[in-house]
Amino acid sequence: MSDLARTRAILADLVAFPTVSADSNLQLITYASDLLSSAGARLSVSLDPSGTKANLFATIGPEGDGGIVLSGHSDVVPVEGQDWSSDPFTLTERDGKLYGRGTCDMKGFIAASLAMAPRFAAARLARPLHFAFTYDEEVGCLGGQALVAELAKAGIKPSVAIVGEPTLMGVIEGHKGCYEYTTEFTGMDGHGSQPDKGVNAVEYAVRYVMRLLELGEELKTRAPAGSRFSPPWTTVQVGRMAGGNARNTIAGQCSVEWEMRPVHTDDSDHVKAELAAYIDDVLRPAMRNVCAHADIVTHVVGEVQGLLPVSQSEARDIVFELTGAHEAELVSFGTEAGLFQSMGMSAVICGPGSIAQAHKPDEFVEIAQLDACLGMLERLQQQLSAKD
Ligand SMILES: [Zn+2]
Repeated sequence: MSDLARTRAILADLVAFPTVSADSNLQLITYASDLLSSAGARLSVSLDPSGTKANLFATIGPEGDGGIVLSGHSDVVPVEGQDWSSDPFTLTERDGKLYGRGTCDMKGFIAASLAMAPRFAAARLARPLHFAFTYDEEVGCLGGQALVAELAKAGIKPSVAIVGEPTLMGVIEGHKGCYEYTTEFTGMDGHGSQPDKGVNAVEYAVRYVMRLLELGEELKTRAPAGSRFSPPWTTVQVGRMAGGNARNTIAGQCSVEWEMRPVHTDDSDHVKAELAAYIDDVLRPAMRNVCAHADIVTHVVGEVQGLLPVSQSEARDIVFELTGAHEAELVSFGTEAGLFQSMGMSAVICGPGSIAQAHKPDEFVEIAQLDACLGMLERLQQQLSAKD
C-alpha cells in the first residue's frame, strides 16, 4: 500500500472516532497507540483528571533531548446546527477532496504522521522523533498544557515542534495568544433610593472595565519594534457584560466576559498585575466597607499562549528545507505552538488543508494536500536518518 493510500485509510478511521472536545478521545488514542507501538515506538499515555481523555506522547529513535515533535490535537469541534452534504463522521471523497469533521483540523496531519511511523522506525534516526497527540485543544489547549508540564516534569527536552494545523503546507511562525476571562462581581442589592447602603456590582464592573480600557490604550505604546501582528500590539476587548435586575434596584451581581490577545507574555503579566492591584487596593476595600462578603473573582476560561516570531528558529529552518518555502507568515488563529515555545522549544506551524474549511460544515482536506504533507515527512525522515 502506498503512503497516500495508508494515510487515507487511517484518516477514515480517525474521522470515524467522534472526538468532539466535550466527549472522550480514548478510542482514537488507543488506535494511534496501537499503530505507533506496532511500528516500534515507545509510548506514554496520560489521562486527564476525568479519566475520559488522554494525551499520547510517542518516541521513535534514540533516547534523549533535542528531538523533533510532530504535534496534533485529537479533538474536533461539534457539528450540531451545521448543514453537511454527507455524514461528518464518515470520510467521503468528492472531486479530489476528502470530507469529514476534522479532516483539515487536524486529523489529516495526524493520519499522515501515523502512516509514516513505520518508515521512521525502519530508518536509523540520528535524533528522537516524537508524536504528540493531545485532547481539548479546541476548548483552551488543556491537553497541550498538561503535555508540556509532563515533559518538563519528566525532564524530556525536545528542541523542535512542527504543529500540523492547516496552513495549506505554508510555514507559519507566529500568532498572538488568546486569553479569555470571566470576571464576576458580587455586591449587595438594595433599594435604588439608598445607593450607599448597598454595593452596586454593575458600577464596580464599569470601573473595572474602565481600568481595563486604560490598560488597552497603554498597550498600544508597548508594541514591540517591528511587530508584524495586526494590530501590532496586545489588545483587550470586552465582549459581554451582564448584571443587575431593574432600574430602581441596586445591582447585586454583574459579570464581564473579556479577552486579551497578547503579542508577548510580558504584556499579559502586566495587565493581570495592574488589574489585581486595582482590585486589591481600590475596588475590593471600597466594596467591603459596606458588605463584608462582596467580592471580585476572575475565572480563567483559557490562556492559549501566543507564538512569538523569533529571528533564529531551528523549526522554521527545518521546515523551509523540507517544504522548499522561504517565507514564513503570521496567522490570527491560536495553536499549541506557543506552549512548546514557552518550554524553550523552537516551534512552527505547517500542515495540510486550509483554515478556511476548519470548524465549518463540509470540512475537507484535498488529497493533494495530504500528498504534500507526506512529502514533507518523507524528507524529514531522510534528514533525520543517521548518515553512515
Ligand atoms: Zn486545530
